[in-house]
Amino acid sequence: MHDDILKWRVGDATITSVPESSDPTSPKFMFSSIDKDGVLDLRSKSPWLAPFVGEKGHLLQKIHCCVIDTGAERIAVDTCVGNDKERGNPLWHEQQGPFLERLSDAGYAPESITHVVCTHLHVDHVGWNTRLVDGEWVPTFPNAEYVFVGIEFDHWSSTEDLFGDPVFEDSVAPIKDAGLANLVGSDHVIGNFVSFESTPGHTPGHISVRVESGGERAIITGDMAHSPIQIANPDLSSSFDTDPDMARATRFEAFARWADGQTLVIGTHFGTPTAGTMHVDGDSYRLETGP
Ligand SMILES: [Zn+2]
Repeated sequence: MHDDILKWRVGDATITSVPESSDPTSPKFMFSSIDKDGVLDLRSKSPWLAPFVGEKGHLLQKIHCCVIDTGAERIAVDTCVGNDKERGNPLWHEQQGPFLERLSDAGYAPESITHVVCTHLHVDHVGWNTRLVDGEWVPTFPNAEYVFVGIEFDHWSSTEDLFGDPVFEDSVAPIKDAGLANLVGSDHVIGNFVSFESTPGHTPGHISVRVESGGERAIITGDMAHSPIQIANPDLSSSFDTDPDMARATRFEAFARWADGQTLVIGTHFGTPTAGTMHVDGDSYRLETGP
């Protein structure tokens, strides 16, 4: 099994993180208001950030898919960048990675996935919705119901992608055309353990995914926070937020809800160890990632 496959238990459910890629990222790529020195300064004030910040102030980030296995459902949350896609970012252009093999090695062959959830419809969250077969984009998960928030679907069906890439056309529209899309509200529920929390601002219909079982709770953030530095300083909005003020308000509201010391918060782009319990820390928050 790939070294970096992580697994967490939440009551009777498990959540398995299958990575597509892990890269040190310049903070300036995502945040206009903080540079590497600012990140190193924040790390010295908040030592818990150490696993997520490189020696020179890079952010240690990853792109991964979380499979929630409830026994009754196998729900793939966020499908990364994908292979063969035409993308402006050279790291992602016509990528040829072993993600699907890793997913199968982790015990989740594509045919066995019952639901696909995208926290939002950006390029790095929808890629493996489809794969290229004989020149056509076909659903990668042929037996799955793909659950999209209606507001999000409507927004990106009529708005150009961040980087001008044909993301909706190659990774979302073919799912609708194949009859596998279910457009839902931001408070949607799947089975007994899984529900959505509306966390708008990064995009208009952005959601986080809550898993509750046996008195335990986990949250998959999506991109309402890109890096744990936003837990240490929730004021930091990403350059990619559609509505930075709303995104900031969402972070303060959601972190206040999640910082009960019990909830396992799983970051959609946080490098390994990727998850921890959230706690109030002075006038902000911290993630405890220890054993
Ligand atoms: Zn993202």
